[in-house]
Amino acid sequence: MLAVLVGLTVHTLTVAEETTGLVPRSPAVLQLLEEKLPTNPWDREKLQAQLDGYLLTDGITFNLEELPKNLQRVGQRALKVWIDALGDSPVVSEPGPKVGKIDIVFGSSPEMGKGHQAELRSTRTFRWGSGPSYTYTGTLMIRPEIGGRKLTEDELVQVLAHELGHALGLDDRDSGLMGPMREGRPVCKPDAAEIKTLLALRAALQERRRLISSSLRVR
Ligand SMILES: [Zn+2]
Repeated sequence: MLAVLVGLTVHTLTVAEETTGLVPRSPAVLQLLEEKLPTNPWDREKLQAQLDGYLLTDGITFNLEELPKNLQRVGQRALKVWIDALGDSPVVSEPGPKVGKIDIVFGSSPEMGKGHQAELRSTRTFRWGSGPSYTYTGTLMIRPEIGGRKLTEDELVQVLAHELGHALGLDDRDSGLMGPMREGRPVCKPDAAEIKTLLALRAALQERRRLISSSLRVR
């Protein structure tokens, strides 16, 4: 028997006032860490599919191919931000094993709030029952202008890197890369608190995955 679970999340980047705060983690990821480890194989396999899907163990492709050259460069900068921060960021620009990708669209949707500069709509699909697996699809929509002018390259880097931060498991905060965009003052890389939070989050997910997969193997 095969079971499937689909989860759609929408993350946005808003333009707002300056404050400070801690770095929150995505509620869906937190839930995986807080749940008791299941005892039956069926639920263990389901949990492993979810852990893999949030760790993005097979990597996901940030699809820059169809963008103009200057925007490809911006996209590469945004990717490098997380590669530098994590060392082993699962989000890459090369086409991967087709388990996940993020497409970039310039424009805005009716659902996108007035103060939103960008949004990432992503769907993670988890499968279990005949081996755990997942797929990830994301669409990153960017409003390319602010206050009647085009976004600068650094502002675009913040928009893209911010949304990639969501794909990796971080939630919005009041400052830093995961904070709101401040016109003319883009933040182009994560601060120490954001990096520390994400590294700790990934380590915790990996530890749970290790516990689960060793028990699946001896079944
Ligand atoms: Zn956001």
